[in-house]
Amino acid sequence: MNNINMNTVGNEKTKGMLIVVSGPSGSGKGTVIKRLLEKRPEIYLSVSATTRPKRENEEDGVHYYFMNKTEFERKIKAGEMLEHAVFAENYYGTPASYVLERLENGQNVLLEIEVDGAGQILTKYRDALTVFISPPSMDELRRRLQKRGTENERMIQKRTKIAFREMRERGNYDYIVINDDLERAVTEIENIIFKPN
Ligand code: ADP
Ligand code: 5GP
Repeated sequence: MNNINMNTVGNEKTKGMLIVVSGPSGSGKGTVIKRLLEKRPEIYLSVSATTRPKRENEEDGVHYYFMNKTEFERKIKAGEMLEHAVFAENYYGTPASYVLERLENGQNVLLEIEVDGAGQILTKYRDALTVFISPPSMDELRRRLQKRGTENERMIQKRTKIAFREMRERGNYDYIVINDDLERAVTEIENIIFKPN
């Protein structure tokens, strides 16, 4: 075997920046990221695949690739997912091809994924930049989930319970951003990503 181009396991070098954003459901990840992408179109958002039902305001191929369990499991077996996890009874995963192509082109890719998936990404890409979006408080998290109104009470409870576990993982991230004031949180992430060296 020659040594040229041999990647060290767990330290795949990417030409573009790989940014991983996690945080409890309802912390405002989607809202913050949408605003960030408006300000910084040079960041490409990876569209995930999921088996969860589509929400009213969501569009297939824009917010997620919605699919059934059989199709999702076929993609896992075929090696088409860069990472995947089960969250609140559904599969979620990152289609590999989009991310790999963008990174190879030197473009910046952002993954909005939960903590288990983030761990899988870090074992492959140690250089990934990781940001955890935290709600100002757990009471406010619950209020936001209720106000959003996309889940029933059983699912809100499930997501809140998962949130406590996710909050315990926040120390594993490079940065923690508290999403109290939206614009402030967006600027903070922008400064983290584009900080001068
Ligand atoms: P996530 O993507 O983390 O599940 P969302 O972006 O859907 O969270 O936000 C959850 C709810 O909280 C939405 O109704 C959103 O409008 C609201 N929200 C997001 N950020 C803030 C903020 N900084 N202040 C108040 N409400 C917010
Ligand atoms: P939601 O159902 O609220 O859209 O997402 C639920 C959780 O799944 C969120 O924490 C979100 O970050 C996470 N998620 C979305 N896409 C992916 C993905 O591709 N992989 C993983 N591991 N988690 C994801």
